[in-house]
Amino acid sequence: MTEPRRTERDLRDVIAQGRDFLPETMTVIENGEGPTVLVCGGIHGDEYEPQIVLRQVAREIRPEMVSGRLIIIPSINFPGAQRGQRLSTLDGANMNRTFPGAADGSPTERLSHFLSQELFPRCDLLIDLHTGGNEYRVVPLIFGFSDDRCRTGPAELESQMEAWGYRFIQYVEGVPSTAVGCALAQGLASVETEGGSGGPIDGAELSELHGNLMRGLARAGVIRSGPPASTAEPIRVRVGPQNQYPAPRDGIVEHHVALGDYVRKGARLATLHPVSDNGDEPLVIRSDVDGYVLRQNANAFVKAGALVGNTGSPVD
Ligand SMILES: [Zn+2]
Repeated sequence: MTEPRRTERDLRDVIAQGRDFLPETMTVIENGEGPTVLVCGGIHGDEYEPQIVLRQVAREIRPEMVSGRLIIIPSINFPGAQRGQRLSTLDGANMNRTFPGAADGSPTERLSHFLSQELFPRCDLLIDLHTGGNEYRVVPLIFGFSDDRCRTGPAELESQMEAWGYRFIQYVEGVPSTAVGCALAQGLASVETEGGSGGPIDGAELSELHGNLMRGLARAGVIRSGPPASTAEPIRVRVGPQNQYPAPRDGIVEHHVALGDYVRKGARLATLHPVSDNGDEPLVIRSDVDGYVLRQNANAFVKAGALVGNTGSPVD
C-alpha cells in the first residue's frame, strides 16, 4: 500500500548534455493500489499540444485523486521541444524510431532506453500522445496495441479506447522501433493519440485532448474519477499502404477535401501544382479506396515521396 505522494525527477540527468537545457520534469503521483500508467508527450518535439496538456495535468492531479501510480512526462524529447524542433537537436534522431534505445547510445537512444528499460517494465499501460506537429494536420484519433501477454489485454484495451471519446479508432500495423511498438514487444499494452492542426495551437483542441485524456485515465483506473466515459460509437478505420498518398514529384499541394471527410474511390484528394515552368501539368491525386481523410500535409510545398495525406478505410 503506497502512501499518497508526489515525486519529481529532472530528466536532464538521463543524458550527459542535459544541463544545456532547461528543467524537464517527470512527475510520479502515487496512492494505494491500482495500475501504473505512463503518459508521455513530446517524443516529437514540435508536437506541443500534449506537452501543454500534460504540464497542466501534472499540476492539477493530486495524490488523493490517484489509484496506483501515474507517471507523467510532458516532453521526453526535450532536446527537440525546447528548441522548437521535431527531432533531437543533439543527434538529429527521430525519437520514435530509436526504441528500445541503448544505455551507451546517442542522447536520444539513452532517453528511449530510459523509457523502455526503467519505466516500461513497471507499467500496466503506456499512453503516448502525438499531434500533427509542424508537418501535418491530423484528425483526432486513437489507436492501440495489446496481445494476450499484456496486463491490459486486447478486449480491455478496445473498451478503454472507446471510453476516451475519439470519433475515430485507427487500426494500423505497428512499427517495432516506436515507443508503442517497443512496449508491445515487452508485453506492455499502449494507446497512442493523434490530432492537431499543424502550426498554431488551437484552444479547442487542447480542451478536447485534456477531456479525452482524463476520460482515458479514469477508465484505466489510475484516477478515481474523471469526465464520464464516452458513449458515442466511434468509427473504426484501418490504414494500410493503399490509404497513403505520397507526392509523385516535388510540388505545391492544393487539398480538395477536408479532414474527416468521407471520400469514395477515385475521388479527387489534392492537386499537385508544378513549382516551375518546366512544362509539368498540375497532377491530380485521387483516392485508391473509400475512406475517411485522416491526415493532410500542412505545408504548401512538398518534396517527392513526402506524404500528401492518408485516409482510413472503414472496418466492417
Ligand atoms: Zn508524433
